[in-house]
Amino acid sequence: MLADAAGARRTRETVRVAAGELEGAGVPEPLASAEVLLSELLGVGRADLALQTKLLTRDQLSTYENWTSRRKAREPVQRILGYAYFRNLKLKLSQETLVPRPDTESVVEAVLERLDARGGAAGVLDLGTGSGAIAVSVAQERPRCSVYATDVSEVALEVARRNAEEAGVDVCFYPGDLFSGLEQLLPGGIDLLVSNPPYVKSGDLRHLPPEVRDWDPPAALDGGPDGLGFYRRILAEAPGVLREGAEVVLEVGESQDEAVMELGRRAGFVPLGVRPDLAGTPRAVLLAWRTA
Ligand code: SAM
Ligand code: GLN
Repeated sequence: MLADAAGARRTRETVRVAAGELEGAGVPEPLASAEVLLSELLGVGRADLALQTKLLTRDQLSTYENWTSRRKAREPVQRILGYAYFRNLKLKLSQETLVPRPDTESVVEAVLERLDARGGAAGVLDLGTGSGAIAVSVAQERPRCSVYATDVSEVALEVARRNAEEAGVDVCFYPGDLFSGLEQLLPGGIDLLVSNPPYVKSGDLRHLPPEVRDWDPPAALDGGPDGLGFYRRILAEAPGVLREGAEVVLEVGESQDEAVMELGRRAGFVPLGVRPDLAGTPRAVLLAWRTA
């Protein structure tokens, strides 16, 4: 119980008690969860929580109690809130969208760098867009680009569409299995393909932390027996929509960078390099499509 007899408690005490309960339940980074949930509930920045002097209302406490007990059961903070922060965006989520990861922010960084190196406007395709994290960020941060996005899940696409609308950007969304139908829809081809495909080995799915295993959609995670199934398909089918000199940026899981680079080489791509995420883990494989 978080409420005292008067039904009210100060924020600092509330966070302390909640963090203790979360820790007792074995939740990783209990203080972060306790603070983020309360700061979102109160609509204040996490750093400003300690400055709050007002007592929490009974309603606020009861919502917070509900949220922390869900977190104790290992529901991710973003699922409890229904949204996630990603770069400049606050993205709505649904059961069919992956919670966008901070690692993927580095993949967007790599895309922006490549777009800047090319200069000018470019056609960009985000394959398997989920909540729209990559596509909406690129459209927002490089407004001269034409951004296209696909997903096999129509529910995810609907969420991504709303997220684009909310951000006030134009993205063309197409439902479908990878590139199916895209050659007709994008007859001029694209300059940059980006994807964070499912890349977890099927046999590893059940070993993932409960926040991922029990809450992210399996179709967003399952990369087949060796985790590389989507890379093989993407690299085989991509040339159908790539312009001469187009580039490809693929998010990879831990230790997959060399294998994906090699798959790219074998499929006729020129390796451009690997970009690490903020933790220093190789995260994005960069390739160029040159037929000449
Ligand atoms: N791009 C989002 C992000 O980075 O947060 C979501 C990435 S999630 C790892 C992979 C996405 O690929 C999911 O949204 C899933 O629905 C989609 N997907 C899975 N199989 C697909 C397929 N055959 N064709 C198109 N999209 C697919
Ligand atoms: N990064 C996800 C994880 O935490 C996996 C997402 C993917 O398969 N692309 O496991």
